[in-house]
Amino acid sequence: MKRFFHRLIFSLKMSYQYRKDLAKIYLNSPRRLQTSHLVLNDFKAQGIEVLVLDFDGVLAAHAEQTPLDALQQWLTEGLAIFGENHVFILSNKPNSQRIQYFQKNFQGVQVISGVRKKPYADGLQQIIEITQCPAAHILMVDDRLLTGVLAACIANTQVAYITHPYTNFEKRPLQESFFSLLRFSERRLMQTYCLLKKKKLSNQHKVQ
Ligand SMILES: [Mg+2]
Repeated sequence: MKRFFHRLIFSLKMSYQYRKDLAKIYLNSPRRLQTSHLVLNDFKAQGIEVLVLDFDGVLAAHAEQTPLDALQQWLTEGLAIFGENHVFILSNKPNSQRIQYFQKNFQGVQVISGVRKKPYADGLQQIIEITQCPAAHILMVDDRLLTGVLAACIANTQVAYITHPYTNFEKRPLQESFFSLLRFSERRLMQTYCLLKKKKLSNQHKVQ
């Protein structure tokens, strides 16, 4: 519980500190973006060398233990493009089933575990140390503004904000509703911030 409150306070502080970066990502991210829409070759051409993937919402619906079948080919392509040990899973739930799945099916994909949960940037910093790759060449793919995207802002990596995450409301209606509400609240918070900022700018304009 103590850890939860520490993380909550850290999230609030960092959201305020990185509010401009978060707003930019929120405003510039395509609506209804799913992981399968990401063209990995394009990222490689833009200088990305390391791919870091969240799990829930990004590779499958919430609490699934394996990525969607439809993403198998995409993951294989990711490994071919970025190379073994340059593709990571950074989830706040790196359980043993998920770790074993990747060990068995995608050996070049490393699952980060034993670090503080996002938005702490510990996982991303560990990836920077493992790969010796500058943060600017690392891409974090995440569906949560105030966890994964915020961690990417703190670590100064690139980010792909998944605005249309995978869900399965039929299988887990309560969990999916809870996480949808969290995502909705994050977006509303950013929307409010952007509106207030716009208003402030137009008022300044009027005074001048
Ligand atoms: Mg997620």
